[in-house]
Amino acid sequence: MKSQIKCVICNRVREDSSKMPFCSLHNAAYRNLVAKYGDWKIAYHDLSPKEFLEKLMDNEYSGKWVKEVVREILSHEDLMQTFLEDLAYRGMRD
Ligand SMILES: [Zn+2]
Repeated sequence: MKSQIKCVICNRVREDSSKMPFCSLHNAAYRNLVAKYGDWKIAYHDLSPKEFLEKLMDNEYSGKWVKEVVREILSHEDLMQTFLEDLAYRGMRD
C-alpha cells in the first residue's frame, strides 16, 4: 500500500519530488529557507542551522508558511537531518 501522501503541516497533497513531507506551498517555503541560510550565516558572522531556525521563529517578518515549516523541522530530528543535508549539498555547489 502507498504511504500517506499528505503534507504533515496542512494536509494538502504532498509534493512527491521532495524529500520533505510537505505540500508544494510548504516546500516552496522550505526551499527558501535552504537558500537563505548562507546569507544569514555571513550576516551574523557564523550561525548554526539551529540558531538560524530559532531566529526565524522569533522574527516578526517571517511569513506564516516559513514559521510552520521551521516549527516542524525543530520538532523532528529526521527533518532536521534532511535540512542539514540539503544545506551541505547547497554549500558544495556554491
Ligand atoms: Zn502544506
